[in-house]
Amino acid sequence: MVSSEAVPFAKTGGLADMVSALSLALAKKGHEIRIVIPRYYAINKDELKLKTLEGPMGVPMGGGEEWCKVYEGTLSGSSKKNPIRVYFVDHENFFGRDGIYGVPSEPDFLDNPRRFTFFCRSVFQLCRKIDWYPDVLHSHDWPCALVPVFLKFGERQGVFSKTVSVLTIHNLGYQGIYDRGNFYATGLNWDTFYSAGFEDWNMMNLLKAGICSADVVNTVSKNYAEETKTQAYGFRLDSTLRSRGTDYRGILNGIDSKIWNPEKDPNIPVPYSVKNMEGKAKAKEVLQQEFGLPPSPDTPVIGLISRLTFQKGVGELFGPTYGSAYAICRDMNLHFVVLGTGEAWCENEIRSLAGKLSNFRAKIGYDEKFSHLIEAGSDFFIMPSRYEPSGLNQMYSLAYGTIPIVRKTGGLADTVENFDQDTGSGTGFMFDDLTPQAIYNTVGWAVWAYYNRKPQIEAMRQRGMKKNFSWEKSAGEYLLMYEETIKKVHG
Ligand code: ADP
Repeated sequence: MVSSEAVPFAKTGGLADMVSALSLALAKKGHEIRIVIPRYYAINKDELKLKTLEGPMGVPMGGGEEWCKVYEGTLSGSSKKNPIRVYFVDHENFFGRDGIYGVPSEPDFLDNPRRFTFFCRSVFQLCRKIDWYPDVLHSHDWPCALVPVFLKFGERQGVFSKTVSVLTIHNLGYQGIYDRGNFYATGLNWDTFYSAGFEDWNMMNLLKAGICSADVVNTVSKNYAEETKTQAYGFRLDSTLRSRGTDYRGILNGIDSKIWNPEKDPNIPVPYSVKNMEGKAKAKEVLQQEFGLPPSPDTPVIGLISRLTFQKGVGELFGPTYGSAYAICRDMNLHFVVLGTGEAWCENEIRSLAGKLSNFRAKIGYDEKFSHLIEAGSDFFIMPSRYEPSGLNQMYSLAYGTIPIVRKTGGLADTVENFDQDTGSGTGFMFDDLTPQAIYNTVGWAVWAYYNRKPQIEAMRQRGMKKNFSWEKSAGEYLLMYEETIKKVHG
């Protein structure tokens, strides 16, 4: 498993959770999994009691060899019998600094193409160093997209002759596009710039090269896989993805049921389950208290936890003058609570709404513990995403008996089923168009059902809580994909 992030060592988003959770689920099925990530400055090798592998490691690059060190640790949660080893590639010049991809003053480090080219190349040297050669090299997103390229264009011989490559795309919006002058760092010849698919309007596109070169490519839900093959969602790579045919697929992320389980959650006041929902009512009471809202068990609470960025549809919700949140809170008898950080305009707008509306409350910041209380204490959870590769919050919501209100896109469309008020079926409220009006109308519909269709709402909650979004299921699909790919490549 080759990644730029893995919990608990380095995290900026869902990728970090997925890499560790999938590794654990695969190991549980008896497979030998090893993870390799860069050793960022913030990873404290003494605190983590990391072992130093003997001797320096040379990594061939364009312009000369780079030398580094490697540390080894184990992933917590893996069993003693089949421990997941984690390798940390340590290169002072590339990773001995704050930030994973950048820092606020320089969000995308200028030397990122060289940093991650080095990292991808180092993986092959690491295998030689530890004399361990995997059947599958599974890499993630643009920072690790060169692993399949190096395998296909040079390494697939000798000790790697039986290895296949898998590339998972977690968000097509980030591709690693750089000046083509950076290509020389790969040490590959210029023919490969075209044949491996690096070329992108005279620039170098790392993710595109990975998509073209990997033995199989996937993204994190079936529906997002389909959407990304269209111009509207393809971020200019739709035709590249289409060209991979059945070698491009979707596998839904799972959720960690040890952390996100209302029956065992230490972050909520009283645990609850389908059989006894009293704890949910208590969570609602505490949530209203925490936000300084009047205690009111009969008022529907709508929660939102999100990165406040364009991708999440926050413009349509909070945009000054046109966003629908103001009208929703003005016109409807509900409580609206928000937890998030992100774009400055949006944070300011949210603060200003909280000043204008007595039923709208927000906490600007990142707060893991509080996010559990919002999931448990809300009646509805809103996600008006512009695009959503998998989405985790709607799955957490379902598990906590909180009804999602979502745009019908990506993983949201794969995990939520729209309410049918004639039959009472469904697990959430959905809309197609990303417009302030559609959000307003759908929230209105949900609030109407809350007041007028109580039994149907209760049945929906229960249906959601019984859904199975375990990693075990998704890991099974990954295994199937690995096996099919090995068969396809090596017969
Ligand atoms: P993405 O990875 O695109 O941000 P996901 O829904 O897949 O969206 O996952 C986001 C994760 O980050 C969820 O676990 C969510 O609860 C968490 N999260 C986002 N913002 C915050 C915040 N401000 N405080 C706590 N958790 C947050």
